[in-house]
Amino acid sequence: MSMHCHVVQDLFSLYQDDILSDETRAEVDAHLAECDSCRAFYEDMRALYRRPSDRVAKAKSYQPDVDLDFANVAKKLRRAKRRNWMLGGAVVALLLAAGVTITNQLDRRMGN
Ligand SMILES: [Zn+2]
Repeated sequence: MSMHCHVVQDLFSLYQDDILSDETRAEVDAHLAECDSCRAFYEDMRALYRRPSDRVAKAKSYQPDVDLDFANVAKKLRRAKRRNWMLGGAVVALLLAAGVTITNQLDRRMGN
């Protein structure tokens, strides 16, 4: 056995992601061929890793909607901005109206 078990087990994620050098991979493969406990460890880890790597594959194959209508989005944004502006105007008008009403009532109460 050229590699220690803990080294082989530490290398698992690199092995799984297939980013080991050919030499290291060959040594891991050779170790796994003759070491039952590391082989069991790798099988357990592979079972754990299977789901996340499926998710990675799915994420990699994900294609964003390239038909996104940017002109339409810009129009919607502009409309939203206008709506905010109108809302602001309505609030100002309301405050003015309230102010005028309060002032009128105060004037009336003071007998003017
Ligand atoms: Zn081992």
